[in-house]
Amino acid sequence: MSFTRRTFLAGAGTGVSVLVLTACTVDAEPSPTPTPTRTATGVVPVPRATARSNWGADSFARGSTSYMTVGSTLEHREALRVPVDDRVFFAGEATSTDNPGTVVGAQRSGNLAAAALADAGDSSEKVAIIGAGAAGSEAARVLTLRGYSVSVIEARSRVGGRIHSVSGKAWPFPIELGAFRLSPLRDADVLDALGRLDVATVSLDSAEDGTVYRSATGESATDPVSPAALATALDWAQSQSRDQSVDSSLTASGAEQTVIGATAGELDGPGLLAQHLAYLATVYGADGADLSSWYTADSVDTPTVVTGGFSEIVSDSLEGVETYLSTTVVGVSYTDERVSLRLGTGESLTVDRVLVTVPLGVLQDDSIEFDPLLPFSHRTAIASLAMGTVDTVWLRFDEPFWTTDAVVWNLVGTDDEVTTWYNLEPVTGEAILVGVVGGEAAERVQLLDDDELVDRLLTTLAPFAG
Ligand SMILES: Cc1cc2nc3c(=O)[nH]c(=O)nc-3n(C[C@H](O)[C@H](O)[C@H](O)COP(=O)(O)OP(=O)(O)OC[C@H]3O[C@@H](n4cnc5c(N)ncnc54)[C@H](O)[C@@H]3O)c2cc1C
Repeated sequence: MSFTRRTFLAGAGTGVSVLVLTACTVDAEPSPTPTPTRTATGVVPVPRATARSNWGADSFARGSTSYMTVGSTLEHREALRVPVDDRVFFAGEATSTDNPGTVVGAQRSGNLAAAALADAGDSSEKVAIIGAGAAGSEAARVLTLRGYSVSVIEARSRVGGRIHSVSGKAWPFPIELGAFRLSPLRDADVLDALGRLDVATVSLDSAEDGTVYRSATGESATDPVSPAALATALDWAQSQSRDQSVDSSLTASGAEQTVIGATAGELDGPGLLAQHLAYLATVYGADGADLSSWYTADSVDTPTVVTGGFSEIVSDSLEGVETYLSTTVVGVSYTDERVSLRLGTGESLTVDRVLVTVPLGVLQDDSIEFDPLLPFSHRTAIASLAMGTVDTVWLRFDEPFWTTDAVVWNLVGTDDEVTTWYNLEPVTGEAILVGVVGGEAAERVQLLDDDELVDRLLTTLAPFAG
């Protein structure tokens, strides 16, 4: 997709008037895809509308969320957020130690970095923020409140970053191709903010029927096997002298053995454990073979889902902030007195301080050149932390074809890629299913074209059709 015009959200270009209209190319921005025009086959009808994300191929994300792989530590996240010469500041979910990989973690990191920047400077200075996602928009809001005149520079033609709400005639409410699940406890601040903005959310916990585990031949309402096995493995790992992957801990702790022979209804333990790990991959973006045992949590809560347009939370924070869209930063040169930003067009912009909020994946692919190089501790952190992939696929049907009122569906014992589904029908009245996939399964899904993907999903969903 290419954009030919830079859009100003607000403001008249003060301080960054050197910028002119620019063109830049964005490849593979997650976007709604047209519904394939095939005929329905089998028991699952062809959906009326589909949309999918493809974050791994997105040049302004290079993945969905940072995660802790074996060998990475929280010190790496801390090191990444240390300001360089009090001129170059960092924020974004990857710099969060409390809630990395989340919207709330990104927002808080933006808040902290804005406070650190304001302490180092004074409000007469020019400040640029690279990235209009959750972190950048929150930092812009805080700095504006503190009297700073801020320019936000965003590569995409929209704000929100990995929050990506899509509205259109095909959908009865805005759908989310990025973040959409919130935890009532962890994300209370975000839920409060959405409430203040009148952005609708639905608690899946409020549904009469919760979770179902289904295979082609059997069903269970609970999984009494794999959460306990994973908890045992992660507990065991805490007492080891070295970190190891979740898969290794499951084996070495003996927890994997406990699921063999165990059952829930007609479902077997190994199948349930495989699905539990597939679910974890939809949270962390990585498989058990890659996830650190020391930093992976085993809890699974029933989420609240945003149905009223998550991006509103970012747009609201940027209200009145000068925001330049479709403007890519390709270089950051800094001295102990000022910072010069090189743009994709070859133009440059000089500011007193900059806050960099681009995703870890962008820092890892070196698409922004830092001059001088970032300190060794930053480079070590960038290399040590990992970027995972989570993708969503939204399907809207003319009417429900499924035989369960459960809101969370788990597919057990198959080799399907998308095995975690949310059924929004009981909580919204709309026949909409949301599939979530992470880790290597997400990478396999990325390789499928839209028709192939929908074909696969119709087969995947057959067990829920009875
Ligand atoms: C599919 C998916 C599902 C998720 N699910 C959840 C969830 O359920 N709950 C949850 O809390 N979190 C979830 N997350 C994670 C959450 O979306 C992120 O943690 C959060 O939005 C990150 O915000 P950020 O500001 O750190 O980064 P971003 O939102 O990525 O913002 C960074 C911005 O920098 C811009 N940028 C990049 N490169 C450049 C450049 N060179 N020049 C200028 N601008 C640039 C980007 O376009 C982007 O707008 C999910 C993410 C994905 C992708």
